[in-house]
Amino acid sequence: MTKFSDLSLNPKVLKAIAEAGYESPTPIQAGAIPPALDGKDVLGIAQTGTGKTASFVLPMITLLARGRARARMPRSLVLCPTRELAAQVAENFDTYSKHLKLTKALLIGGVSFKEQDTLIDKGVDVLIATPGRLLDHFERGKLILSDVKVMVVDEADRMLDMGFIPDIERIFGLTPFTRQTLFFSATMAPEIERITNTFLSAPERVEVARQATTGENIQQGVVMFKDSRRDREATEKRKVLRGLIDAEGDKCTNAIVFCNRKVDVDIVAKSLKKYGYDAAPIHGDLDQSQRTKTLDGFREGTLRFLVASDVAARGLDVPSVSHVFNFDVPSHAEDYVHRIGRTGRAGRDGKAIMICVPRDEKNLSDIERLVQREIPRIENPVAAKSTKADDPKPETAEKGDEKPKRSRSRSRKSDDVAKEQPADVQEAPAVSQESKSEDTKRGNRGRSSSRGRSSGGDRGGNKVVGLGDHTPEFIGLSFKERSAAG
Ligand code: AMP
Repeated sequence: MTKFSDLSLNPKVLKAIAEAGYESPTPIQAGAIPPALDGKDVLGIAQTGTGKTASFVLPMITLLARGRARARMPRSLVLCPTRELAAQVAENFDTYSKHLKLTKALLIGGVSFKEQDTLIDKGVDVLIATPGRLLDHFERGKLILSDVKVMVVDEADRMLDMGFIPDIERIFGLTPFTRQTLFFSATMAPEIERITNTFLSAPERVEVARQATTGENIQQGVVMFKDSRRDREATEKRKVLRGLIDAEGDKCTNAIVFCNRKVDVDIVAKSLKKYGYDAAPIHGDLDQSQRTKTLDGFREGTLRFLVASDVAARGLDVPSVSHVFNFDVPSHAEDYVHRIGRTGRAGRDGKAIMICVPRDEKNLSDIERLVQREIPRIENPVAAKSTKADDPKPETAEKGDEKPKRSRSRSRKSDDVAKEQPADVQEAPAVSQESKSEDTKRGNRGRSSSRGRSSGGDRGGNKVVGLGDHTPEFIGLSFKERSAAG
């Protein structure tokens, strides 16, 4: 087996690796480090958890150990899709370059430009950045990229999902043609293939096996769930999630709960919290200090459930997650591979459980085709107990049941969307304020529209002129009284 000492890394880097407790390189490291040290371009097809960060950080540090940076002209550049991933790469740099005098700057949103400018002005060896922030600095004239000798693109497929490919192409164009490129992606979508064909020069291709096809240590399962009534799907699904968590008991030491949409990340986190589970959300719309606090808590074990969107969780290195719960079936099959790869890391056992509603069955088939196995169906832990929408604490149960009924009797027409939301609001009041006010708006719109019509004001069909919140007295009078009066 290859040892780190067999690779031509700088002795000071080897020392730092030994101090970090690593002896043998992982397959992506063993495959990527030698060509990278030879100055070749590398195309690494690997996902997080495989040790891919060190596979580019270690050779970069070795190459940068010679020479010095000039003001505003970084010598190397690492592009990451998210702030968290960039921060993680920066941590790796600190760990492995601790015996060398290298400087770095982290250019991510949520950090003041001033602080970052000061570092760049002094000259940095390594610039670790998200694409948008890097271009912001460039456009402000604070950065010169013509001295970049090594450029890394990390998690290119995620960059593609996030719409960063035009930025990446632009950044490639700003760096010298002679630069060395180390390019990493978990999958090779056609667009990624195109970019690598355009910007990499005779790259050494290093591919490591997908975790999902080899990860026998991850026990998988899916609950096929059908709501009892359409407007109860969301609440019932959250109940199923709680049932699944409860069924795991103490075996579930910590977990990431994945949702497809940011709005659900918030609602599910609030809901779990409300039911006494230690949960917090993470997604791109939360401010940086909150994201950092949540992640630190999860890493340190003070937070048990991290509710996340794919983008926010991608690339996060949380070594020991006992469970992954897929609240939704991901719509891209590859995301399933990424999600479940958060558990069962470094050979540990892990469990990944998913909830599948009927409309997601096609996505489930796509996933099963990709991972080349059938995901075992598991019983819905709450199916046998109750068919009620939710069975929360008594004080909310009463209100929760009351509201949808009222809205149903008031609105004879189908206004399902407006009815659906209040159930959510009941379960997770704080987050749902927004949706509630949205609904209220929607409800008002519906009402004024019908009033407008009855008063003959909707002839054009473009703009419905209603009576606003004011209800004139005559509307309250009954026809009987009027005719009696007349
Ligand atoms: P990454 O794929 O870069 O997110 O790394 C996943 C995890 O593997 C991190 O916790 C690293 O610290 C760890 N790691 C990196 N290289 C090695 C290695 N050679 N042996 C064991 N663990 C490693």
